[in-house]
This record gives sequence, structure tokens and C-alpha cells, in this order.
Amino acid sequence: MAKKPAKAAPEKRSAVQAQAACACGAVRLEIDVPAVWAWHDHSAESRRAHGCAYATYVGSWKSRFRILQGKAHITRYEDPERKTVRSFCARCGTPLTYERPRSPKIVNIPRGIFRSRTGREPRYHMYLPEQADWTWTGEALAPLKGYPGVMRERPRKKARTLEPPLDELL
Ligand SMILES: [Zn+2]
Repeated sequence: MAKKPAKAAPEKRSAVQAQAACACGAVRLEIDVPAVWAWHDHSAESRRAHGCAYATYVGSWKSRFRILQGKAHITRYEDPERKTVRSFCARCGTPLTYERPRSPKIVNIPRGIFRSRTGREPRYHMYLPEQADWTWTGEALAPLKGYPGVMRERPRKKARTLEPPLDELL
């Protein structure tokens, strides 16, 4: 009588995953869907780490997060003061993960590197008092005459300086 195949260990993965990848494609990550939560991080620390107005993260349980490919390309930076850990692709510079000591079981992954939905919409805003004053927060935009596809915000204050030479910038 044939032996029954041993029962496989219980599958820990959920039915649906969301995959993320860095700009050069060397590193591929995966989380189980739905993520725990998603949030906008307006802190100065994340602004500098990403080089943009604010970072939007998807938080996942570490137990539901996997590195699929490119582990050798991942570099970690531990902030000795804040005790936060950030990782990025050493080949292309894309931020990959952000870990904070206050939530040790969670890993935060930039929403922008996911190729599909993560099961959570970013509805939370953290560290708003640190928000950069140049962040676009939905002010009215108007098309810039003569430059299709370029929208322009009205100046917030009366400009005392001359406009920059747009022909050289755009
Ligand atoms: Zn890369």
C-alpha cells in the first residue's frame, strides 16, 4: 500500500501577494495582501532619505514580508540616534524598507515601488508639523501657456523677484 505523502507544512502566505521592485529591477520584494496599513510620512528624516516632499509607506508585518530577489544588492543604514533602519538598492538607490523601533514587528515599504494594490490606501498622515512649506497640497493649478503638459501654481505671495527663465528650465 502506497504511503500517503507527508502533509505539507501549513501555508503561511495569504492567497494574494503584492510585489515591489526597485528602479533597476535587481531587488524584488513581496508582502501578503492586505498590508497592515499605509501612511504618508512628512518627517524631515524621510524627506531627506527619499529626496522628495514626503514618503508614502505601506506597513507590513515582517512575518508577511519576503525578499524574492537581489538580497546581495540591499544596503542597510542604521541611524544611531533614532535607531531607525533604512535599506536601499546599492545599484540604483531606490529606498526599499524603513524600520522604526516603536513598531519592531512592522516593516514599511515605499508605496511607489509596488506594481499592484496592497490592500490598504494611504489615509494617515504622520509628522505633519515637519511638512515642507513647498509641498503641493492641492492648490489650484493652471496650464502654462505655450508649454503643453506643464501646470503652474499661482504664487503664494506677491513675487518681488523676476520669474526664472523658463525656457532654460523646462
Ligand atoms: Zn535597484
